[in-house]
Amino acid sequence: MPTERQLTVDQACYAIGMLNIDRRIDKVIVHHTWEPSAVDYRGISTVASIGRTHARWWPIRNDHGYHVLFGPSGEVFFACPWEKVGAHTRGHNSHSIGVSYIADFGGGPGERAPLDNPATYAGLAAGQQVVGALCDRFEIGADEVFFHSDFSSKTCPGTLMDRGEYRRAVIDFMNGGLKVVLLPGSNVIACRPEIEDGVARVDLRPLAEALGYEVYDHITDQGKIYLREGGDTDD
Ligand SMILES: [Zn+2]
Repeated sequence: MPTERQLTVDQACYAIGMLNIDRRIDKVIVHHTWEPSAVDYRGISTVASIGRTHARWWPIRNDHGYHVLFGPSGEVFFACPWEKVGAHTRGHNSHSIGVSYIADFGGGPGERAPLDNPATYAGLAAGQQVVGALCDRFEIGADEVFFHSDFSSKTCPGTLMDRGEYRRAVIDFMNGGLKVVLLPGSNVIACRPEIEDGVARVDLRPLAEALGYEVYDHITDQGKIYLREGGDTDD
């Protein structure tokens, strides 16, 4: 049986930051529901109805196809459990998170005029913020945020949506941390920023430790980073 839970953007981002799942996630795929569109939206009952429809389409899964849905005013709904493979993009479900706007951003069967415009859809940014939190949590870049149309001849998430613009907005919501890839092996070291007196300082200690170096962080405010070999921690 599909279940869904409504959260605020802040609650959703916090919950995503605490996520601990075994499934490997290497991309986020964005959709729109097309039908229902924003004018049909009636809160969580609309999301529940989408879940029932998806359960009918894929009776073996008996669940939501999307992991997250966004309402027109920035409502966030957690739907398909994170651990469970979604049903939203043929051939790309295993290692992705599927998110969807309850909107008609253009295209779709019949090529009717779009009912919703991303430029005036108040919930657009809420979705971008949640997608940013997903990128942070799964340590993927905004270039791993895709549209359904990247993998299909469908126009989803709508002919009015621009992927470059969308990714730029997601970057603005990401925590600004530095992700360093150590080759060979593609081991990703995430260096998180800390905001202090309005200045973001990226903590390079995880990288230095991975390389076997010690950081003299008292010198980093001069715009230089000094690393010392050995890194014997006698402090
Ligand atoms: Zn789609």
